[in-house]
Amino acid sequence: MDCIFCKIVSGEIPGYKVYEDDNFLAFLDIRPLNLGHTQVIPKKHYRWIWDVEEIGELYKVVQKIANAIKKGLNTDYVVSLVFGEEVPHAHVWLVPRFPQDGHNLAIDLENIKKLTDKEMQEAQEKIKENL
Ligand code: ZN
Repeated sequence: MDCIFCKIVSGEIPGYKVYEDDNFLAFLDIRPLNLGHTQVIPKKHYRWIWDVEEIGELYKVVQKIANAIKKGLNTDYVVSLVFGEEVPHAHVWLVPRFPQDGHNLAIDLENIKKLTDKEMQEAQEKIKENL
């Protein structure tokens, strides 16, 4: 199946993974709206979040990652978004907010940050350390 998230699950495409268990995976978005922007997905391919049979378990992982982002990146403010239009594999966005982060009250979806590989790796480590 030609699905970019399934390819990250299988390892065919590398990703900045922050969490993995038998059923779920979390990794940094490579088009981050802020440092630490993470996607949480079921490993099994579902088209929409509403199709995920174990959605409660998925959201327990989302909560765990959100709390790790809060601690690791030192912010109390993590927003969660679910669209499902950009990649046809169920996913939950977690985006930490910071003072003067270039977004408005609502997050600006066009404001994609240019982060270096080093910055991405550092964010990955900070989140992992706080899981
Ligand atoms: Zn998929």
